[in-house]
Parts: sequence; C-alpha cells; structure tokens
Amino acid sequence: MISIGIMDTYSRKSGLSGQDAVNGLKTAGIEFLENGNMSAYSSIKIGGTADLMIFPKNEEELLFILNLLKANLSDYYIIGRGTNVLFKDDRICSPVISFKKFAANFYENKKNGSEIILEAGSGASLSKILNYAIKNDIGGCEFFYGIPGTLGGAVAMNAGSKESVIGNIIEKIEIITDAGDKFTVKKDGMKFSYRNLEIKDIGGNYFITKAYLTLLKSNGLKISENMEIFKKRKSSQPLGEYSLGCIFKNPSGQCAGKIIEEIGLKGFSQGDAAVSQKHANFIINKGGARPEDITSLIKIIQEKALSIKNIKLNTEIKII
Ligand SMILES: Cc1cc2nc3c(=O)[nH]c(=O)nc-3n(C[C@H](O)[C@H](O)[C@H](O)COP(=O)(O)OP(=O)(O)OC[C@H]3O[C@@H](n4cnc5c(N)ncnc54)[C@H](O)[C@@H]3O)c2cc1C
Repeated sequence: MISIGIMDTYSRKSGLSGQDAVNGLKTAGIEFLENGNMSAYSSIKIGGTADLMIFPKNEEELLFILNLLKANLSDYYIIGRGTNVLFKDDRICSPVISFKKFAANFYENKKNGSEIILEAGSGASLSKILNYAIKNDIGGCEFFYGIPGTLGGAVAMNAGSKESVIGNIIEKIEIITDAGDKFTVKKDGMKFSYRNLEIKDIGGNYFITKAYLTLLKSNGLKISENMEIFKKRKSSQPLGEYSLGCIFKNPSGQCAGKIIEEIGLKGFSQGDAAVSQKHANFIINKGGARPEDITSLIKIIQEKALSIKNIKLNTEIKII
C-alpha cells in the first residue's frame, strides 16, 4: 500500500500518482524502498521516514527515474552515503535519490608521462580509490584518507582538508541534469570553493555521475609519507562514533573546533547528542539522539560563538 505522503506529493506536484511511480520502478526493475528509515542512510544514524527512496545503479536507470518522475522535479533530494547529511524527524515526502548503489567502477583512463587520469563512477568510495592508488603507486589523493562517502558526494562538497581538496585534482566530470540532459563539464566550467561546487551555466539541480581525477605516478614511501599528516589528524577525530564529520566550516584563518572549545562547549550535550570530547567540531550521537538534539546543539554553539567571540559559525553539513 502506497503511503499518503507519496500520493500527496506527486499528485500535487507533477500529476503523477505515487502508485504510478512505484509501478514504473517495479516494471523497470529499479531498486526502491518505501517508508525507509533514514537513520540507516546517514552516518550519524538519525532520521525520520522517507516515503520513497530510489537507488539507481547506472545512468540508464537514473534517466529512466527522471523521466518517470518528470515535471516539477524541483522537490527531490540527492544523497550519496549520507556522511554529511542530517535527516530531520519529519516525514520526507519528496523522493530521495540515493547514489549508494550507483556505478562504483574505476580505471586508469589515460597516462601522460607521470600523469594518470583515473575515471571513476560517482558511487565509488574515496577509501576504495585511495586503496587502489596505494597499491598501484599512484599519488595525489592521499588526503582522501579518513573521508567517508562517495566520489559524487565528495565532488559536490569539494571535500578535503586544508592541504588539498578534491577540486584540485578534478579534470572533468559528467553530470545529468534533472531535465535528463547529459553534460561533460571541464575544469574551467566548474567553480570549487570551500565545501562547495558551482557549475557554470547549469541553473537547476544535477547529478554527478562520473569524475576524472588527475593523479601522479609515485612510490610507496612517498605516498606513506604524504599520508602521515592525514593519519595524525584523523587520530584526533572521533572516527568510531556516529557523526557527520565537522559540523561547522572553519571561519577564515580560524578553527571552528578551537572556537567551540574556547566558548566552553567541548563535551556539552543535549539529549543523546554531544560535542565530542575528542574534537569539538564533531557532534556525536551517543545512541538515541534525535534530529532536534543536533539542531538545538548547533544553535546553542552558534549563539554562544556570536555572543562571546562575535564569530558567525556556518554549518558545513546539509540538513534535509
Ligand atoms: C567521520 C567523518 C569524517 C569526515 N571527514 C571529512 C574530511 O576530512 N573532509 C571533508 O571534506 N569531509 C569530511 N567528512 C564529510 C563527508 O564525508 C564528505 O562531505 C563526503 O564527501 C560526503 O560524501 P557522501 O557520499 O556521504 O555525500 P552525502 O553526505 O550523501 O551528500 C553530501 C552533499 O552532496 C550531494 N551529492 C551527493 N552525491 C551527489 C551526486 N552524485 N551528484 C550531485 N550531488 C551529490 C548531496 O545532495 C549533498 O548536498 C567526514 C564525515 C565523517 C562522518
């Protein structure tokens, strides 16, 4: 039985009934989930229920989904592995398109002297790419160490650290717009900034389906030396706990974690959500935290940072 939420959303927005959408997905053999518990799809293990989650495995399935949902697709969500997304407790009526099962294959597409172009599906995890690079003496992506999530999510977020960000090593990407148009976007068509990507001339939403990474021939010793700094940094983060990584962006020239420590909120908790004792820019779910616990902790931190230090802390995470 289809949920009321789906019926309401589709019939109002596109004239398509929820039952039509579900039937279309079933007929095409595309994986979907009704009434999915979103806590299973976010690394902080919090979230309400989504009426409909869809898991395209490749471009063809994605295009089929876009065609099926058609019309007003302004209202839908794209997620990768949900390592930077907090789902609220409210029912999510708009479809959630997850890249968790999307093409994750990658291979060395081109070699130019010491340069190697790695072509990878956006469902590939950064850790798998890094492991491949280490095994094959390829450098340039050592900063992937300890960053969970998909390649598509990393490109959308311009993930990285102060040493390097993924935008620095992207040669080009392939995208599909919600109108179902496919584009290859070269370096000069992309504007990467702090945890953000803008694509010139693309107004609406888009799905990153593939990325080409410019990497370099290296050797084991150099790669492990380069990785040391990231290994050391990650050892100061609560990696075994449920979290979304850093909650706030670092204000220019400053460190959000240090600011939170200085305003006395390290270890501070709200319900089962707590500012990590290990790294104050991480909020962890101790087990039973609700989305409101996280959002109210965020608000408390922002208000105190502003009142005590006159610093505006902006969130890095996405809240759906
Ligand atoms: C323990 C931990 C450590 C972390 N450390 C770091 C770190 O060191 N550096 C860092 O930058 N981040 C870090 N993060 C945050 C997070 O892992 C990254 O932002 C990651 O790149 C997000 O990938 P994802 O697949 O989980 O994307 P999601 O969290 O699912 O989505 C993030 C954003 O990307 C968009 N998106 C996802 N896939 C696509 C796609 N295919 N096409 C278009 N848009 C898409 C979503 O709409 C959303 O806006 C950490 C997180 C955790 C939990």
